[in-house]
Amino acid sequence: MTKQQRYQFFIDYFLLNAPSAETELLFNNPFELLVAVILSAQCTDKRVNLTTPAIFKKFPTPESLSKGSFKEVFALIKSISYPNNKAKHLIGMAEMLVNKFSGQVPMTVDELVELPGVGRKTANVITSVIDQQPNMAVDTHVFRVSARLGLTTNAKTPLAAEKQLISHIPKEYIHRAHHWLILHGRYVCTARSPKCEDCGIQSVCKYFAKQAKMNNRL
Ligand code: SF4
Repeated sequence: MTKQQRYQFFIDYFLLNAPSAETELLFNNPFELLVAVILSAQCTDKRVNLTTPAIFKKFPTPESLSKGSFKEVFALIKSISYPNNKAKHLIGMAEMLVNKFSGQVPMTVDELVELPGVGRKTANVITSVIDQQPNMAVDTHVFRVSARLGLTTNAKTPLAAEKQLISHIPKEYIHRAHHWLILHGRYVCTARSPKCEDCGIQSVCKYFAKQAKMNNRL
């Protein structure tokens, strides 16, 4: 099987089985998504979704959050990982939105990464979820699943994986492929014990083929 055939199977499978996959973070506008994605670093979406309603209520706009005190923001996010840094980042991000971007969330990766707490992965999530731009955010799930499947080869960094993935996936599917890989990694191809027996893309998976070969030898 060629790499392109593997990609084609992957795309066809998820188009059929998860045509409208989307982020599990809850939000109502780009600003809320930005807050949620900053909070989601090293934290589950479930935990973030329990936390954000109170933040969105108290700080519904970049202007209001930019005027929030560290103490106030920290109190609202203290159950989330790294609350110190994240509280500083949220306030700094809101200040920059107000001072540099007229209170609007910019929609280019280059502009987004200027904001405190926003790296390439977060910028890719925002632009692909809000604007369906063909940007691939590579988190731990995307990195692991794409390597196991054989969609990426010898990718040592998230950026290397990102480049390989976007060079093979047709532009119109890239924003959805991000969710396909994340959700597959979260619920099926889990880090410690992938549920290969329940996996619909087992037939094209390099990791599965390797494991099967090893088992046959034993
Ligand atoms: S067959 Fe197993 S390792 Fe391969 S993608 Fe499916 S769950 Fe992951």
